[in-house]
Amino acid sequence: MIEQRHRFAKIIATIGPQSSDFSTIENLFLNGVDVFRLNFSHGTHNHHSAAFESIRQIESKHQCPIAIVGDLQGPKFRIGEFNESFVSLKENQTFDLCYSLGIGDHTKVGLPHQELFTALHEGDFIYLRDGLIKLQIIKKDDDILKTRVLNHGDLGSKQGVNVPGVYIPLNVLTPKDHEDLEFALALGVDWIALSFVQIPKDVQQAKTLIQDKAKIIVKLEKPKAIQSLEHIVKISDAIMIARGDLGIEIPPENVPIVQRQIIRTCRRLSKPVIVATQMLESMTHSPSPTRAEVSDVATAIYEGVDGVMLSGETAMGEYPLKAAEMMDKIIKRVEQDPLYKKNLHHMQPKLLYTISDSMAAAAREISSSISVSVIIPFTETGDTAIRISTQRPSSPILSLTPSLKTSRFLAMIWGIRSVMINQISAMDDMIYTSHTIAKKLNYVQLGDLMTIVAGMPFGQAGMTNLIRIEKCTTE
Ligand code: PEP
Repeated sequence: MIEQRHRFAKIIATIGPQSSDFSTIENLFLNGVDVFRLNFSHGTHNHHSAAFESIRQIESKHQCPIAIVGDLQGPKFRIGEFNESFVSLKENQTFDLCYSLGIGDHTKVGLPHQELFTALHEGDFIYLRDGLIKLQIIKKDDDILKTRVLNHGDLGSKQGVNVPGVYIPLNVLTPKDHEDLEFALALGVDWIALSFVQIPKDVQQAKTLIQDKAKIIVKLEKPKAIQSLEHIVKISDAIMIARGDLGIEIPPENVPIVQRQIIRTCRRLSKPVIVATQMLESMTHSPSPTRAEVSDVATAIYEGVDGVMLSGETAMGEYPLKAAEMMDKIIKRVEQDPLYKKNLHHMQPKLLYTISDSMAAAAREISSSISVSVIIPFTETGDTAIRISTQRPSSPILSLTPSLKTSRFLAMIWGIRSVMINQISAMDDMIYTSHTIAKKLNYVQLGDLMTIVAGMPFGQAGMTNLIRIEKCTTE
């Protein structure tokens, strides 16, 4: 059984061509990765299924629950194809986007998305290739958008299209997403990430489909979603700040502001939050990061996020293991800084004045005032453990649960290490199990204190009503 990682914030790594073999996935896990992301924008179902099986084998080999995220592509717009590997666009030339066109060239390309022809008007901007090429519409016909190229650049087939600031009434789940979702749920992923959410109804729609088969991470990458931030955060299980597309949809200088706004909202509403994309981007091709990247990861950690994500760095980079190792080092270093704890203390979420929230706050207070080494929640649904985590206590959380599903999804939550146990039926059993597992995973030494949080009668969800302080009495 792998021991505690001595780290609160979690690392999410994206699986891709450079990281899909068993040994790389295992080494990523050993280098600190807590959660793996299967990105359904790329790869086949066979690839995802093979990676999924490897992760589950690694989980059982090291007896440590690992969370798996199935990230749906969502309604991403793409241009059509060219015969050449790319065409070069020159500044100021005209370039036509045509609803029905086979193969394009340097004067025109296909854009087979009727929604865009309905929503866009003269004067609107269209960004291609992750925002690197900007176009402005100068004339709109029924099936051709005539544009002026605002900056030169090379354009390849099927590259992404963004229309910043324009609300496009779209179904958040495309036919491909429906297929991928069904596949991911049948595999047994723990989290589903929803891309390009715009309005709260998008989240409700996905929830109705997914029910309790997986938890939902809402990726915030559209300005429209930020308008309903509070509402969307409240109805999601977790939030991902997807800075890749967000940074195209809003000016780059606004990204840090929106990032902070989202993190603060999630912290205030006690919702897990992940910062994603370009965190250690230069490590895609370099064995060490830039100072600015290290600082970017550190800033997110100081803000109290639950997790930070590696995308291209682990999916297709040359140094996936070094990237995970670096992330692990940065997080641990920040978490040792006394300022980190102070910052978290100033950003406590508002208490809900429920029994479980009050118990969580009490566990945090007790643990810091008498220097407790570990907080041990007994949880069925994971809720008690999450409530404690959102209080950002100074002790790690060792969550004990009879549910395999709960133990896995909790791997993404700040400060929580989960272990599966048999159902507890008596107080003696609860105390014995706490001592044994805390000792085995090296959370306590002789004389150390632990705070146990549980509910009686045992085995009933929503019954948190007991806090007990225990001292480790074995060498
Ligand atoms: C992003 O846009 O930052 C993101 C995480 O989504 P994807 O990798 O699916 O583009």
